[in-house]
Amino acid sequence: MSLATLPPQRIGVFGGAFDPPHVAHVALARAAIAQLQLDALHIIPTGHAWHKTRTLSPAVHRLAMTRLAFAGVDKVVVDARETLRSGPSYTVETLEALRAEYPAAQFFLIVGEDQAQSLGTWHRWQDVLQLAIICVAARAGFTRASPLFEALHLAPTAFQLIEMPPMDVSATDIRLRVANHQSTDALVFEPVARYIDHHHLYQTA
Ligand code: ATP
Repeated sequence: MSLATLPPQRIGVFGGAFDPPHVAHVALARAAIAQLQLDALHIIPTGHAWHKTRTLSPAVHRLAMTRLAFAGVDKVVVDARETLRSGPSYTVETLEALRAEYPAAQFFLIVGEDQAQSLGTWHRWQDVLQLAIICVAARAGFTRASPLFEALHLAPTAFQLIEMPPMDVSATDIRLRVANHQSTDALVFEPVARYIDHHHLYQTA
């Protein structure tokens, strides 16, 4: 097959604070790769999360934990670009940069349902919709009766659902557990748990 006849690459983009990365992030990545038949999935820890009120852990730690959490997941590329940029991390700018690198690719933006609900507040969200298909994974509590579910079905070319069993796991809960000396088994992978311990992360709630 010549280069001209190669089908466009299917590239997933999955951003987050990953403070810390947990088992639901990895389950979502695996489901996205399989269901969207991705050629690559860029996992992109945010630099400055404009939409989160708390101060994130230093990017160097979040990047290191993200590499540990996703090691061994085929097709994943841990992409540091947002942590290297100054100013707020806007998804639209990340997608524009990726499109410049892969002009023929189709992009799939992977988000949890909570993020999808607030899509209308994102910087230049209309441009985001032009740049990528928004792929939404249900979080615990998401039901087919939710207004978002209706929106997904009204605009089937702009949105896709990623099917995965709801997992009641959040980084907030994990940070609290660490601060309270409770177990995080089954919530983070062992190398991430060891990293948290070694670097004394999340000691205060
Ligand atoms: P925090 O509790 O600190 O807000 P978080 O657990 O939501 O963090 P993020 O790094 O903010 O983790 O999430 C990155 C992406 O992963 C977001 O799109 C979020 O909706 C999604 N996500 C996180 N946890 C889950 C989960 N349990 N199920 C489905 N999607 C999830």
